[in-house]
Amino acid sequence: MTIQWFPGHMAKARRQVTEKLKLVDIVFELVDARIPISSRNPMIDEIIQQKSRLILINKADMADPVRTKQWVAYFENQGIRALPINADKGVGLKEIQRVTMEILKEKWDRMIAKGIRPRAVRAMIVGIPNVGKSTLINRLVKKNIAKTGNTPGVTKAQQWIKVGKEMELLDTPGILWPKFEDQQVGYRLALTGAIKDTLLNLQDISMYALKFLEAYYPERLMSRYDLTEIPEDVVELYEAIGRRRGTLMAGGVVDFDKTADLIVRDVRNVQFGPLTFDLDVLDDGDHEEKE
Ligand code: GDP
Repeated sequence: MTIQWFPGHMAKARRQVTEKLKLVDIVFELVDARIPISSRNPMIDEIIQQKSRLILINKADMADPVRTKQWVAYFENQGIRALPINADKGVGLKEIQRVTMEILKEKWDRMIAKGIRPRAVRAMIVGIPNVGKSTLINRLVKKNIAKTGNTPGVTKAQQWIKVGKEMELLDTPGILWPKFEDQQVGYRLALTGAIKDTLLNLQDISMYALKFLEAYYPERLMSRYDLTEIPEDVVELYEAIGRRRGTLMAGGVVDFDKTADLIVRDVRNVQFGPLTFDLDVLDDGDHEEKE
């Protein structure tokens, strides 16, 4: 999917999400576990405002589990409940309902106190492209699509999906834009497949990946490419990887484009094991990157 965000698109996306927000009791904000901050919309707090929210840290299977735990604690420190999930395999989904009821307990208790019979909780999913919104909806759907909105004359009726007895989910998610004007965020979005490589230079993306791996996961970098050490000179590093993996041109010269492509694909395909890229906030700047 090509993502080209322009101010007009952003304004429209925001308007659509804001409209849908009026229909729900709680928002499930989906983020990518490898980049829980970089995969968030920069204006999410402003958009959601006072609405109850649960952050779902998706693709937890691809992220460093120790870091994911830290991320849950980080969001909870900010007063937002968060749950790691794997929408692809359906891991952690049962918890969503339980935690949702906890978050909404006060509101529901107040309704009951006023004599209002509790109805199903209404929820919607929001998130940037590729974060797993459709996968999650499909996982939750089973065969429970409630076609309630097909009223003649209503062109864009909202449909609700029944999730268990106590919850209804809007069948279309709210799509928000990531913040990729920040170069580092851009690289992280590209490495996790949230934005197309063509938006950035592939060699730059691969260089960022190598620097990151060297700083945080050097053992995994060495083991993936059979290196006994990581050469200080980055050109030598590419050459060593290229020779090991055979990304060569005629005459045995290392093809830098092919090597860059290989590195980026290896990151995306979890060949270095599960990785978390957003570490700056967690480490609070006390990790010195090697230059
Ligand atoms: P959307 O654009 O937010 O609706 O994202 P999709 O639901 O289309 O998912 C994007 C890609 O991520 C698809 O290839 C999914 O199979 C994959 N995906 C979604 N959730 C998970 C997950 O928890 N783990 C893994 N490994 N892949 C996932």
